[in-house]
Amino acid sequence: MIPANDPKLKSWIPVPANSDFPIQNLPFGVFRPKDALPRMGVAIGEHVFDLAVAADMGYLRDLGVNPIIFLNDSLNPFIACGRDAWRKARQVVSDLLREDNPEVRDNEKHRAKLIHKMSEVELLLPVKVGDYTDFYSSIDHATNVGTMFRDPTNALLPNWKHLPVGYHGRASSIVISGTDFHRPKGQTKPADAEKPVFGPCKLLDFELEMAFVIGKETKLGESVSTANAEEHIFGMLLFNDWSARDIQTWEYVPLGPFLAKNFCSSVSPWVVTMDALEPFRCEGYKQDPEPLPYLKYSGNKNIDIKLEVFIQPPNAAENKVCSSNYKYMYWTMEQQLAHHTVNGCNIKPGDMMASGTISGPTPESYGSMLELSWKGTKPLKLADGSERKFINDNDTVIMRGYAEKNGVRIGFGEVRGKVLPAT
Ligand code: MN
Repeated sequence: MIPANDPKLKSWIPVPANSDFPIQNLPFGVFRPKDALPRMGVAIGEHVFDLAVAADMGYLRDLGVNPIIFLNDSLNPFIACGRDAWRKARQVVSDLLREDNPEVRDNEKHRAKLIHKMSEVELLLPVKVGDYTDFYSSIDHATNVGTMFRDPTNALLPNWKHLPVGYHGRASSIVISGTDFHRPKGQTKPADAEKPVFGPCKLLDFELEMAFVIGKETKLGESVSTANAEEHIFGMLLFNDWSARDIQTWEYVPLGPFLAKNFCSSVSPWVVTMDALEPFRCEGYKQDPEPLPYLKYSGNKNIDIKLEVFIQPPNAAENKVCSSNYKYMYWTMEQQLAHHTVNGCNIKPGDMMASGTISGPTPESYGSMLELSWKGTKPLKLADGSERKFINDNDTVIMRGYAEKNGVRIGFGEVRGKVLPAT
C-alpha cells in the first residue's frame, strides 16, 4: 500500500465528514491568496496547504527539486519532475499534516502562513494545457449517439471496438470551474431548410467527462505501452466538454467536431493523483473482440468513481439530472495513451486527455442532455416546474465526482459553469 493512502491516517486540520479532501487525497492545484502571486497548493478539507511557503520554510527540501517551482502559476514544472517527485511531495505533505506530527501543528507562526481557507483564495487553472485530446470511449454513450443519429442495429461504427476513437481538441478555451461563458453562435442547418442559417446555438449541451493530465513527456517517435502508461499520467480531474449539438450536426462530416466543441471546456481545480486513486481501481470492461496486442493490458485498469451532474436555473435549487460512473468506460486511460502514441506522436506534461462523455447502461446515467432528453423527445422536469431538453441561458451546470471505500472518500470537488446569453 502507498503509505499516504492509509485509511487510518487523520489530520490535525479538521476535515468535515463527506469532504472530498481528506488526508488520503491531497490533490495538487494552483491558487492565488489575496494580494499575492499564484502558487501551488494541496487541498485538505476546507483549507489549502501552501507549497510555495512550505518550500520557502524548508519543509520540502528532501524532495530534491528547486523550491522555486512551487511559486508558479501552473503545475507544469513540478509535473515535469516525474513520478518520484509527485509521490515524495504527497508523502511529505501527508507527514506534515498527520495529527501526531507537531512540526507544523504546534508552530503557530508557520501554521498561519502555510494554511489558507479555501473560500478566501482564488483557485486557478491547475495546468498550462499544451494540447487537448478528447476520446469517445464510453460504449453506452457511443451506442446511444449511433442509435439516435444513424442506425439502432449498427449503432457502433466498425472501428469503435478496435481502437479508442478520438479527436484533437482546442487547449486555449479550457477554463477553470466558475468561469461563465456566452452561448456560442454559428452555422446550423434546420432539418426543413435548404440552406444553413447563422445565429445563437439552440441545442447547447454538457458532456460529463473526466480528463487525465500527462506527467512525463515522450520524444517524437516514441510510444507509450499500456504497461508503462501510468508513469506518464499525473492525475485526473472533472471535465465538462460543452457542446453545441445543432452546430455539430451540420459541421462534423467528414472531419469530426470543430466549432461545436472548441468554444469552452470547463475543468475542476484539483488534480487528484493516480496514487490517491489506486485503492479504487476495478476490473475493466470485457473487451470483445480482443484488441490488437499494443492495446492489451493486464490488471485492474478501470476506476470506480461516482459522477453526478446538476442543473441549477437562476435563483433556483440544483436538480440532479445524471448519476454515472467512470467505471463504465470501455477503453482505459492506459489504452488511450498507448493508442495516442503508437504512431510516434509525442506528449508533454500538462497535456490533457478527456474520456469522452461517460454514460452508463441506464437512462439516469446518461452523461449529456442529448441522451437524457433523447434528442429533445423526452424533456426533463425540474423542481421549479420548468422543463429542459438542452441548457437554457443563465443555467449553471455543476459536475461532482468521488470515489469511496473503507470509509475513505477521494473526491474531485466540482466543476461549474454558467451559460450567459449570446453576445
Ligand atoms: Mn466530448
